[in-house]
Amino acid sequence: MQPADPSAPRVAETGQGDTHVDRLNALWKLSVQRGLSDAERIRAMLEMAAEVLDMDLVVLGEFGEHYTARYVSDRLGVFPEGTVQMVETVLCHGVQLSREPSHIADLRAHPLYADHPVVSTLGLRTYSGLPVAVGDDARWVLALLRRRCESPPDAVDIAYMELIADWLGNALHQSAQKDLLQRIALTDPLTSLPNRRAAEERLQKERARTPRDGHGFALALVDLDHFKMVNDRYGHAVGDEVLKAVASRFQSGLREGDWVARWGGEEFLFVLHGSTLEQAADIMERLADQARASSVQTSVGAISLSFSAGVAAFGANDSEILPMLEQIDHAMYRAKADGRDQVKTVAQSSVPWNSALLRQALAENRVRQASQPIVDLQSGQIIADEALARIESASGEIVEAKDFVDMAEGLGLMAEIDRQVIRNVMQRCVVRMDQGGAPDFAHFVNVSPQFLARHDLVAEMLENAMGYCQTCSVMLGPVKPLVLELTERQRIVSLEKLRADLQPFIDFGFRLALDDFGSGYSSYLYLAHLPVSFLKIEGWLVSHMRQDRKVAGIVESLAGFARKEGMRTVAEHVEDAETARILADMGVDYGQGWHFGRPQLA
Ligand code: GH3
Ligand code: MG
Ligand code: MG
Repeated sequence: MQPADPSAPRVAETGQGDTHVDRLNALWKLSVQRGLSDAERIRAMLEMAAEVLDMDLVVLGEFGEHYTARYVSDRLGVFPEGTVQMVETVLCHGVQLSREPSHIADLRAHPLYADHPVVSTLGLRTYSGLPVAVGDDARWVLALLRRRCESPPDAVDIAYMELIADWLGNALHQSAQKDLLQRIALTDPLTSLPNRRAAEERLQKERARTPRDGHGFALALVDLDHFKMVNDRYGHAVGDEVLKAVASRFQSGLREGDWVARWGGEEFLFVLHGSTLEQAADIMERLADQARASSVQTSVGAISLSFSAGVAAFGANDSEILPMLEQIDHAMYRAKADGRDQVKTVAQSSVPWNSALLRQALAENRVRQASQPIVDLQSGQIIADEALARIESASGEIVEAKDFVDMAEGLGLMAEIDRQVIRNVMQRCVVRMDQGGAPDFAHFVNVSPQFLARHDLVAEMLENAMGYCQTCSVMLGPVKPLVLELTERQRIVSLEKLRADLQPFIDFGFRLALDDFGSGYSSYLYLAHLPVSFLKIEGWLVSHMRQDRKVAGIVESLAGFARKEGMRTVAEHVEDAETARILADMGVDYGQGWHFGRPQLA
């Protein structure tokens, strides 16, 4: 059918040229109008068709298993958008099958349609149906109906209808392609999970929804353990198979509404709705159990795999996603550092706290210092204290170390915190000695590997130390009052490097303490490589030694071993007099804990 061309001159001759131009103008205007979504533009087109062609009902419908009226312009209010009908009962079914247009001037006079509900119920009389080609897709039909019954549409009307049908076909096609591209852009091709971009978009939506829903959600980050080994051993293609299998396992292990995305190479991000921290951790533990219980099937056989996860809860009043992501990242790394194959949760802080606030606090020198006494178990004298980092929030609340240390480590900000604490301690030390304090009183400070690796900060600290020693009224011998506490909380790349980083301090006369001794498996390596003066016996051992003879034996032998090696021992978590007495009897030198004093803000 090519009615447009032959009709064109006739239009001009019959004086309808202006109308035709107006109609084309209207079509063109709609096509270039900005700021409309695809659906809005299509609806506007149907409105315009109804207006220009004086139709009561214009429907762009899609045939599939059923017929669905996808877009509707309805002056009569009788046929809503989204109406679904059985394919065979639809007036324009014939057009869909034949892909030929159909124009019926009076349905009531038509032998096939006289009794059709469109006539009998809706009272429509004039009908035009046109196939709409959406690429290769032949499921779409445009139907135009009117109640008044007149002569059949003329060639100009028909040409215009066909132009509109063409236009709609293009619009639907473009829209479908856009959707497809969008889907491709948001889907990880290997696992078919949402990719990181999609996850980030969804997270923003989740966040925006929480205040309305009144309940939060939980986030979990999973990183497969030793995945490089799978690649190294079996090749990248098998690695991919494993990722695919793991992804589908994760996906099917979720409840309705929860989702998982591929966050990075072998990292997956979970969003669990309405979950408390405990519930979310339970869900992740279940997945971890499943991973332990059944290996992944691949083309080279079964491969066992575990993962490490960090979990945090996002409350209805939390407003920022980014700090949450940082926190689960740190929790996940803690799980790795503690031996992998485990789920760690992010402790919820009582003070609203995030990385931006932490950075700001550091920039504004709001690191504070609490100190806790260390007591000689024989004499009961306070012979030292330990400086503990605190941060003052902008509103003056004190944030405890447990609420920021993970974050600070993850963000590489621990060095700055250590720097501020150590500077404070040195200042206080000078003041104390100027006031006649004992020169052999020791100040224990925690130093992170991050701090030690910063040569500029180390140099600055030594320079400060020298400066303070010169201004101090007391002449000190080779041993200085500062004791640096090292812990295994963070992975140490090389003990040789750590030793080299520490050497300037040792040369200056600072002593070393090993913190949490007994909690990690490399403690003895530290002892072997570093000139340690103090062993701090891990709090768990101390609090359990009274119930458990074996634990008591460990503490006692640690004390004996330390003494033999010329080291002093400090027992942590001493919470009552009886424990203090037993420790003293065992030969432990010093004690620290609530029994002697809680950390006090300096
Ligand atoms: P860890 O327990 O510390 O996580 O050890 P790991 O070996 O898993 O180490 P890491 O997480 O740092 O390394 C992830 C590895 O995953 C590195 C990379 O080669 C591999 N990987 C990342 N993306 C893909 C992928 O799409 N396919 C395959 N086959 N391997 C991937
Ligand atoms: Mg990784
Ligand atoms: Mg990994």
